[in-house]
Amino acid sequence: MNVPFDGRRTLVLKRGKERVVANRHPWIFAGAIHSERGPEDAAIGDLVDSEGKRLASGLYSRHSQIRLRALTFGDEELTPELIAARISAAIARRGAIFDDSTNAARLVHAEGDELSSLVVDRYDDLVVVEIANRGLEQLKPLIVETLQRELSPRVIYFKNDLPVRKLEQLPTISGAAGSQPADDAGRRAESPPLHFLESGLSFRVDPAEGQKTGFFLDQRENRRLARTLAGGKRVLNLFSYTGAFGVYAAAGGASSIMNVDVSARAIELARENHALNGREADFVVADAFQFVRQHHERFDLIVCDPPAFAKSRGDVERAAHGYKDVNLHALKLVEPGGMLMTFSCSGHLSLDLFQKIIFAAALDAGRRVSFVRRLTAGPDHPVSVYCPEGEYLKGFLLEVR
Ligand code: SAH
Repeated sequence: MNVPFDGRRTLVLKRGKERVVANRHPWIFAGAIHSERGPEDAAIGDLVDSEGKRLASGLYSRHSQIRLRALTFGDEELTPELIAARISAAIARRGAIFDDSTNAARLVHAEGDELSSLVVDRYDDLVVVEIANRGLEQLKPLIVETLQRELSPRVIYFKNDLPVRKLEQLPTISGAAGSQPADDAGRRAESPPLHFLESGLSFRVDPAEGQKTGFFLDQRENRRLARTLAGGKRVLNLFSYTGAFGVYAAAGGASSIMNVDVSARAIELARENHALNGREADFVVADAFQFVRQHHERFDLIVCDPPAFAKSRGDVERAAHGYKDVNLHALKLVEPGGMLMTFSCSGHLSLDLFQKIIFAAALDAGRRVSFVRRLTAGPDHPVSVYCPEGEYLKGFLLEVR
């Protein structure tokens, strides 16, 4: 018997909410549910109409406003085999990303791979898993078994620090599959930092310490673009974190590189990554908002990749001011004829609004600016057409005169 799949919760959809399911959006909110029955701590839930006809099945969470994360609709059976097959298919789709010079990529991107609330990143022989839903947490053995069969990694590390895990009432201590509890210092020895390869360059990742799963894999293609643009250029890398854009720019022949981050620890990591690749650069621990105001020498290429300023819908206006401010001053620092590569990774801030922010920043900076290219996350971060919320990363390559 397969307990997580047998003891299922039944959720009855409210009358008038049928569109929720017809549109195949995977998030079924509590407000659309008329009533529930069955085991409260079930991993799997079935959404039914008032006649009891099944409309969707998915991952259940009694603590979340997203009561059900639908994985199948209508008659399609939700089984352990279906979930395993989706993980395997997602891994297979990434085949073309891996070669002798790149051994890291996102393997499973939640809704984009029809696996809402599951993220899996691979760094060489280390696999890092993020689970954002209570139902899915109960399927950990299935996830581990599937990843082991597909990849035989050295370590499968569960990064349990997503803020949403508190709301889901899930443990927030990270660790490797099958490992012992943390030692007295709360540190785990079973997944030490490692070096992986991206585009022939080496980077350090420490899954226990890093932001997200340790590295921003979503920017791979944009880093490659930065490398092709950097030849002979003075490059400024704002919000540099791992310094990855700086390392690529150096590999592309930049004449100088300045990495700026407010976190001393991030700058240390950026230094280490430059050294790993035998590259020189300058490193500044500073608030980027102040740096762009106070610095007066110009750059030929600026990368501006801040953290998500809008963490919720209510934050969007404040975030918009932040994006405008930093972009306005960054634009002023671009040598005429140079470029700005600018990003927002706030899911709540639309592409349309980001474009307007750039317009306002260009106007106030008094510069003539063109959009050269739209930038997005790489192909290992697909977005479901039914769940456009998955498209968080947006950017522009701007030409500045
Ligand atoms: N561009 C990076 C990812 C940036 S993550 C990459 O390609 O990997 C965001 C970074 O911004 C973090 O390292 C964080 O320490 C830094 N940060 C946050 N607020 C900042 C501020 N006000 N000034 C400078 N850096 C900041």
